[in-house]
Amino acid sequence: MKNIFYIFKETFLEIFLPPICVICESKEGKMLCEACFRKIKFVDEFQKCPRCSLVFYDSVPEKCPNCERLSPKFSKLVSIFVYEEYGEKLIRKIKFENKLKVVEEFSDMIKSKLEEIDFDIVVPIPSYTRKWIKKGYIPSVKIAKVISENLRKPIVPLIRKSKEIPSQLELSSEERLKNPKDAFEVIGSKINYRRILLVDDVATTTATLCECTRILLEKGADEVFCFSLARTPLKTL
Ligand SMILES: [Zn+2]
Ligand SMILES: [Zn+2]
Repeated sequence: MKNIFYIFKETFLEIFLPPICVICESKEGKMLCEACFRKIKFVDEFQKCPRCSLVFYDSVPEKCPNCERLSPKFSKLVSIFVYEEYGEKLIRKIKFENKLKVVEEFSDMIKSKLEEIDFDIVVPIPSYTRKWIKKGYIPSVKIAKVISENLRKPIVPLIRKSKEIPSQLELSSEERLKNPKDAFEVIGSKINYRRILLVDDVATTTATLCECTRILLEKGADEVFCFSLARTPLKTL
């Protein structure tokens, strides 16, 4: 009951009061004010791996360490901003304080980046825990909805969790690589869609995206692309 009241209160405030910045709480009438927006580091501002969007701040290594370690089978990971400083603050507001609506501020960027990719359906990663379901908000589903509305592609929840695993953000680097193994399953025996866009809020090691790509290809998908709102940079992998 307490949770229902909480969601109602948040929704009520969002509808009837002018929005305040989710990061600094300034009353500019936007969920993300200009000053905070400018402090976010966008992935496209940096040199990055063409496959997994890992950004390199200094020198560009000959081979991407993330792709070397995991050999991703997805064709490309598209990300919007770096999970660091203001990008990290924003993701924490989205994930842990129910500020899902702020994702809509990135609609145009998401649209222009994904227009280059040819995909048939949008599949959110079920990276939520029971705690989040009880609270009534799931970030990957909200991002999938923004993509679906802007690019007119259907959302198909093709993947479910087969066991409860901790959030990747709470684990060490080594644990993150092992954590998603066999943690997901495809719903149904065969996939009838050719090109799939997997969607998550943050891509850390990409181990979760790799595992979900693996099971989708195994069940008959032709090609898998990935999208994450935020991407961790090399030094925090
Ligand atoms: Zn602000
Ligand atoms: Zn890479």
